[in-house]
Amino acid sequence: MATAAPPPGAQPPGAARLSGATPVTRVTPPVVDEDSAFYWAGLRAHRLLLQRCEDVECRRVRFPPMPGCPWCGGVGSSIVESSGRGVVYSQVRVHRAFSDAFAADVPYVVATVELDDGCRVVGRVEPEERSAIGAAVEAFHHDHGEWTELRFRVVAGVAGVAGVAPASAASAASAASQASAEPVGAGDGGTGA
Ligand SMILES: [Zn+2]
Repeated sequence: MATAAPPPGAQPPGAARLSGATPVTRVTPPVVDEDSAFYWAGLRAHRLLLQRCEDVECRRVRFPPMPGCPWCGGVGSSIVESSGRGVVYSQVRVHRAFSDAFAADVPYVVATVELDDGCRVVGRVEPEERSAIGAAVEAFHHDHGEWTELRFRVVAGVAGVAGVAPASAASAASAASQASAEPVGAGDGGTGA
């Protein structure tokens, strides 16, 4: 298969971007579409908004935003505000930044959080050294220039993980005192607290 040689001086596609002429130094904003607009607007107002199926026999809360219910197929939904509380369901700990925008952040944890509302969402968990599967977390909001990111902070760690006594010691009391030592974002529901 013959391929015409590129003219002298030509650069392959993407060469300018890869050369580092325009380094990525900021986090790319999310792509907002019709289905997810309410979710991003909610985060901007420091509220975690989710869809709940309106089928009376379903009523499940879902994420990510989508036009139909993945459980029953119903198309009706209402917007509900989450408490933002849940537990870490799974997580990855990032040690190597994949762009300059994250170079100062490593290591950090990105987790799937199972909310008390009954669905799972994705966000960073802080502090990363206390995050572990099963850790109790609550949402907070990290503002970027023109958009807001959902994040979580650990409110009750897992025994054996940094800062939490092993289960054989008085771990329950330890975890409880650590939980109460952190600010509780009960005012995230629009009270401005
Ligand atoms: Zn449903």
